[in-house]
Amino acid sequence: MHILLLGSGGREHALAWKIAASPLVTKLWCAPGNAGIAREAECVALDIANHAAVIDFCKQRGVELVVVGPETPLAAGIVDDLAKANIKAFGPSKQAARLESSKGFTKDLCAEFNIPTGAYKRFGTAAEALAYVRAQGAPIVVKADGLAAGKGVVVAKTLQEAEAAIAMMFEGAFGAAGAEVVIEEFLSGREISFFALCDGDSAISLASAQDHKRAFDHDEGPNTGGMGAYSPTPFVTPEIHDQIMSRIILPTLAGMKQRGAPFRGVLYAGVMLTRQGPKLFEYNVRFGDPECQVLMLRMMSDIVPAFLAACDGELRHFNLRWYPEPALTVVMAAKGYPGDYRKGARIDGLDDAAKIEGVEIFHAGTVAKDSAIYANGGRVLNVCAMGKTVTEAKARVYQAIGLIRWPDGFCRRDIAWQAVEQEHK
Ligand code: AMP
Repeated sequence: MHILLLGSGGREHALAWKIAASPLVTKLWCAPGNAGIAREAECVALDIANHAAVIDFCKQRGVELVVVGPETPLAAGIVDDLAKANIKAFGPSKQAARLESSKGFTKDLCAEFNIPTGAYKRFGTAAEALAYVRAQGAPIVVKADGLAAGKGVVVAKTLQEAEAAIAMMFEGAFGAAGAEVVIEEFLSGREISFFALCDGDSAISLASAQDHKRAFDHDEGPNTGGMGAYSPTPFVTPEIHDQIMSRIILPTLAGMKQRGAPFRGVLYAGVMLTRQGPKLFEYNVRFGDPECQVLMLRMMSDIVPAFLAACDGELRHFNLRWYPEPALTVVMAAKGYPGDYRKGARIDGLDDAAKIEGVEIFHAGTVAKDSAIYANGGRVLNVCAMGKTVTEAKARVYQAIGLIRWPDGFCRRDIAWQAVEQEHK
């Protein structure tokens, strides 16, 4: 089978690694890819925002399945355009991708279908939003309605922070994405990422994972795309798993079908485990990055039949098998990220680091020049490992990081601290 993967991050390197391992695959391309992906797939310099160019490529090369990694092409309707050209693509349609591209859309769906989430209101002007937060008080959460590269959410601890966030969004900090703002109740509890593979009607859950959003140790510093993750998390018990499936994921699928936009692809629920039970605080319509990296390491089954079953509405009869051992990933980012950072520094020691037992390194923002690897983005490497315990996986990852020579990089030292604490109880 000929497959084209779209994207260039650590998530896509992990997907490329897993897809390339499938005996069904005869050829794998990735557009645009990165230096690590180039070891698994042939990277092609296609502009993935140009849907006509992607369709032409698929027709010329006989691509039978397109796997879409990031949210931007999904929100732009690439799956719809490929479908019109009779090319099968894994991922939601533009309408179904609204679960991520419009926070207001998702909140209204939750209200209509009784899906547990925080109380909220949608606003089109700063004056009304300000009056509402003043009446509600802090803590409170201010969200730009549209896609804002993971930066459109402000968890305001004080009223002043909430007011500043509202002003910033309505002044156009996120362009059209901030023309509408959703103000949401602050949910307290443990945060987990829940993934389900969906075919429009049915869903099968993937392994559980926990992400670490803040830039620095002890969950301090600015929010980022994610600085590390591990799987499984001990906090998703079988009971919580069943509650999330029956109260959140399945009603969402039913609601989307009723609205004429059946959801096919990976549904990624950001869930807060509150005292009143699991509550949804956001949806994403693709794999999380870096959670995907640990899920791909732990997935025993071939992923390609799973993608095909999701596209074809055949998940009902499907099952996925997982390795029981935990996996952990730590993101190495360029100093300064998520703010300004320097590109172009050389990275050494990757081959030695990858030789450590259980270690796998997925690239994000890297380029290769004359067989050396250079940093080319904010999040640059994902150093991952499996182990018999989370503690062992973590020790292997940090041992590998110790061998990587990149003075411009930094990483958190405390990924999976909650799970490690639990293991030592
Ligand atoms: P997002 O950019 O949508 O991933 O949101 C960033 C972070 O904001 C999430 O990972 C949560 O930690 C936090 N967050 C979002 N909504 C809420 C909420 N209603 N209550 C508490 N924290 C929230």
